[in-house]
Amino acid sequence: MITVLENIDLRPYNTMRVGAKAAMWIEFDSLEDAPAAIETAKMATPSGKYMIMGGGSNILFCNDYSGAIVHPAVIGWEAKALGNGKMEITAGAGVEFDNLIASTCRSGLWGLENLSLIPGSVGGAAVQNAGAYGVETGDYISEIRAWDIEAEKFVVIKKESLDYGYRTSLFKKAENAGKYIVLEVSFILSAESCPKLDYGPLKDLESDSVKITPDLVRQKIVDIRNSKLPKVSDTGSAGSFFKNPVLEKGSWAEFISVMTANGIEPDSVPHFVLPDGSVKIPAAWLIDKCGWKGKTLGNAAVWSHQPLIIVNATGKASGSDIVALEKAIVEDVRSRFGITLVPEVVHV
Ligand SMILES: Cc1cc2nc3c(=O)[nH]c(=O)nc-3n(C[C@H](O)[C@H](O)[C@H](O)COP(=O)(O)OP(=O)(O)OC[C@H]3O[C@@H](n4cnc5c(N)ncnc54)[C@H](O)[C@@H]3O)c2cc1C
Repeated sequence: MITVLENIDLRPYNTMRVGAKAAMWIEFDSLEDAPAAIETAKMATPSGKYMIMGGGSNILFCNDYSGAIVHPAVIGWEAKALGNGKMEITAGAGVEFDNLIASTCRSGLWGLENLSLIPGSVGGAAVQNAGAYGVETGDYISEIRAWDIEAEKFVVIKKESLDYGYRTSLFKKAENAGKYIVLEVSFILSAESCPKLDYGPLKDLESDSVKITPDLVRQKIVDIRNSKLPKVSDTGSAGSFFKNPVLEKGSWAEFISVMTANGIEPDSVPHFVLPDGSVKIPAAWLIDKCGWKGKTLGNAAVWSHQPLIIVNATGKASGSDIVALEKAIVEDVRSRFGITLVPEVVHV
């Protein structure tokens, strides 16, 4: 079924809780309706403009949207045993990702537990390659069923073609903008124990003398996240606002000299050397070093427990309020450290 609504207030549909209007909202709940939903969207407004939105947890509406928003509400999932303790779970793009994770953890399946409590839909997580605590969504995806809007056909895209990287995928490449709508995502999970506990506080689980289960890891992650991150129901945010910058191989020495000039002890700079020799620096640390943690600008603020998160501090922030704070942070980090932070949040 396809539902079409006009002149929609987007505040309830984006976790930043910014007020913005969309000229049209087009929702469909079965795979087969995707082509008609897209055709409806193309004709819905004079501009013919449309965009796809899942849970709206990684989108910032800077202005009203004059086109149509297409919302895949394909829900439900099914499981297929593959042998050797492996299970294939195929979920609709509209399933709330954390509901799926709660269920797979309860069933004793390993894989998605570290991604617990990430807001949004299965489709959105597959597009953004949402990640947390050493795991990325793409690590467990085997294939994706999508509607290819350009070629006008259903396609199954296998893992090898999904081009997963840090918060990126095939769907995020400039040449594929607007090409696909993700409809179903298949994950391969395992009944055999394979916890990923490299992230600091998770290591404690190994020293506790209890049997480690996916549900136990999930509970630990939920506790950690609840202590650090704003609750979607209480405070508007879109999670980590910026990506962690990656310095190309060979740029580290130059960066360290900038740090030294800023009076920062080189050994105190947190960093992760990636397999290709490039170096990832936590954006949160850079923002914190510039003194932004907990600071407010108009109706927007930097979250006091995690400086990578910009929040709708008063509940009344507009997209422009958030962007004003974003720009101030980017400028400050650039002028002090020579690094240009890039937003993870999709700006509309
Ligand atoms: C409190 C909080 C904590 C968060 N923590 C994390 C975290 O730990 N790690 C992390 O990676 N992210 C995190 N996020 C960000 C966000 O939850 C994830 O990126 C999430 O996976 C986005 O899913 P969504 O359905 O909300 O996507 P949306 O925000 O609706 O969309 C994101 C992008 O994907 C596209 N898209 C969505 N669905 C489809 C589809 N079916 N087909 C084609 N394109 C589609 C949209 O057009 C848009 O470009 C957090 C957000 C909040 C608010």
